[in-house]
Amino acid sequence: MQVLIIRYSEIHLKGNNREFFENALITNIKTALKGYTFDFSRSNARYVIRNFDTMLLDDIVDVVTNVFGVHSVSVAEEVESNYQAISQAALAIAPTTGTFKVNTNRADKRFPIPSMKLSADVGGDILEQHPDLKVDLMNPQHVVNIDIRENGKTFVYSKVIKAVNGMPVGTGGKAVAMLSGGIDSPVAVYMMAKRGMTIRCVHFHSFPYTSMQAKQKVLDLAKLVKKYTLRMTVDVVSFTEIQTAIHEQCPEDYMITIMRRFMMRIAEKIAKNYGGGAVITGESLGQVASQTLESITSTNSVATLPVFRPLIGFDKDQIIEIAQQIGTFETSILPYEDCCTIFLPKKPVTKPRLSAVEKIESVLDVETLVNNAMQTIETIVIE
Ligand code: ATP
Ligand code: MG
Repeated sequence: MQVLIIRYSEIHLKGNNREFFENALITNIKTALKGYTFDFSRSNARYVIRNFDTMLLDDIVDVVTNVFGVHSVSVAEEVESNYQAISQAALAIAPTTGTFKVNTNRADKRFPIPSMKLSADVGGDILEQHPDLKVDLMNPQHVVNIDIRENGKTFVYSKVIKAVNGMPVGTGGKAVAMLSGGIDSPVAVYMMAKRGMTIRCVHFHSFPYTSMQAKQKVLDLAKLVKKYTLRMTVDVVSFTEIQTAIHEQCPEDYMITIMRRFMMRIAEKIAKNYGGGAVITGESLGQVASQTLESITSTNSVATLPVFRPLIGFDKDQIIEIAQQIGTFETSILPYEDCCTIFLPKKPVTKPRLSAVEKIESVLDVETLVNNAMQTIETIVIE
């Protein structure tokens, strides 16, 4: 029978966290595979998926290798632990040219043939069928693995497919990510989900200055990152009143700086409302005027929770590469504008002084504006 072996990152399994980590990982694999039929079982230090539709194998491998905490997977043939069945399965997956070796792990010591001898014998069977092959024990091109389990069954497989690694979502605390329609923030969500965070998103839109397509684009991005976050809710906040107030009452060059502070306050309030302990942004140092050290200082100073900026040291090229790899890039580059591009100052300050920012902002009724914005929240659960 064809089965899928799933290995996880052992490094996180030390001590008391094992149960916690494993329970989250198992739940997440099952959640990610919702809609597929399969049987799931634990077999020490790995999981095994059986009885799935073999036509869907590639899809299942794609899903499982993208679950954070999964280290690697192998498609294996599971056979009875007897020589003939093992040798036959090994022959079926053996290469026909190049170099190879057979590797045996005998967890079941009742199996009568020692590992070295089994490897040699099965290797001999393979060579007999494929005389062009050469054995290379040190540096083979192909490895045929035989894993004799304690339950009377043996796994025979060749390839080890690398998975994403990371920590299972649900083991790293909760956060609210500020999701714009751009390239960076979906990548930031991906990176923090990879560290095990449970993430929901907040998006600020300035309808009617920004279009419904702009909002839909963000929801589309949220749906794309849900592949990694497993669950996704987006709180859409109307930013129009705040943006208009800043536009009317503050100097144009400070517009973005002050907008950022409002966004941060609201994101943090939402985070606290649902027990979140951090805010995530897609900022990258020096990328634009609002991401200089001085700008970040002025945004950060209104936050009380830790603010995670996983892209802070990344070049745009690197961010784009990840965006392409995780499948968000094409959507991110659609033209619809997010709220930051309206009322844009011609020359934003690049080095706002915090004291100046605070003084300029003091003409606004910050608390009322924030509370009003909180009233506009539309909570959208992404299915
Ligand atoms: P991105 O590609 O993520 O939009 P960016 O390079 O355009 O980033 P900014 O526009 O300066 O950079 O935004 C910095 C960060 O602020 C974003 O990564 C995002 O986390 C947050 N942000 C910006 N605009 C919005 C918005 N309309 N709603 C929610 N968060 C936003
Ligand atoms: Mg942006």
